Amino acid sequence: MNLIKDNLTFNFKFIITLFLVVTLIYSIVFYLIGMSELSVISFLGIFIYFISLKAIDDNNYDRAFFLAHLHIVISSMLATIILGWDYGFYLIIIAIASTTYLNIFRKRIINYLLAGFDFIGFIVVYMISNVYFPKEPGDFSQIFYLSNLTFLLFLFMIIFKIYNTVNQINIKELHKHKNELRTASQTDHLTGLINKRALHSILTKKNNKTITIAMCDIDNFKSINDKFGHNIGDEVLKTLAQIFTDNANRSDIVCRWGGEEFVIVATNTSRANFITQIQNIRFIINKAPVKVSTDRSIHFTVTFGISDSGTDPDKLTDQADKRLYKGKRSVKNCIITK
Ligand code: GH3
Ligand code: MG
Ligand code: MG
Repeated sequence: MNLIKDNLTFNFKFIITLFLVVTLIYSIVFYLIGMSELSVISFLGIFIYFISLKAIDDNNYDRAFFLAHLHIVISSMLATIILGWDYGFYLIIIAIASTTYLNIFRKRIINYLLAGFDFIGFIVVYMISNVYFPKEPGDFSQIFYLSNLTFLLFLFMIIFKIYNTVNQINIKELHKHKNELRTASQTDHLTGLINKRALHSILTKKNNKTITIAMCDIDNFKSINDKFGHNIGDEVLKTLAQIFTDNANRSDIVCRWGGEEFVIVATNTSRANFITQIQNIRFIINKAPVKVSTDRSIHFTVTFGISDSGTDPDKLTDQADKRLYKGKRSVKNCIITK
């Protein structure tokens, strides 16, 4: 991912730096042939390109290309009006206008606005230079025409480069959204644990591996919610999730099964060791305080059902669930293993 990003940043910087160099050259040439106003306009462009380069560093490609686009079109329009049609600066407007089809900008409306601006600009410049104030070809018109034509062809090459780059950005963003969606769809927002769907897909992949499942349910959770409010209930859930995460083995899978039920799957521990581990966890839970006000904390308890060891996740989950409810029907705050 970083490689793609570095590559993109490099490509964009290359393109903007190229504009900057060309602008600088034009600024010097305009100065040398006595076109000081065009020289100043080009020179101002150098600052614009520095802002664009900074925008690329900040990942703000929209701003970078918006500024570069406007500067090139406006300065080409002015050059055409001031020098005349024969100098060929209108060619650059055509080249830049074609970049709007690349959909570089995240907001499509900017593409349309720029395309509209370029089109109207071209017509206005055409009318001024050909109909209202036509100018005789100047001394350097052919050289300028040829250099602008070269720039136009070179720009078309760059446009293809941008096209590839933009495609890479789109693919990159698509991957990012896909990963975000996948993470969101597999994670429980409140506790940060994986959810039931994610656990299911993990266990499906662990086909034929011997596992043991502990299912846990908070005791009398409804009354905690009723007495102290839903937010405190949420705090209890987060505290419990943290205790599980802190005290589980590396190879254990901790999952928020739903509501106030959690599942721990031991994938690499003997059943006896797993039971001892769950016993320790239950003691830790019994001692864990949850703040309900500045000067008051409450404690909560949980009941566990632990399955046999086996390879069929559905069967084991069912078994752990049945044992959990056996515990619920008895004293609660206990671990049922048979
Ligand atoms: P038992 O000891 O038999 O398990 O009783 P209980 O009150 O814990 O069980 P019950 O199933 O009656 O209540 C579960 C409650 O968990 C009901 C529901 O409002 C609450 N709950 C489920 N998800 C959340 C949540 O995300 N946040 C909070 N605060 N409460 C939740
Ligand atoms: Mg429940
Ligand atoms: Mg409960």
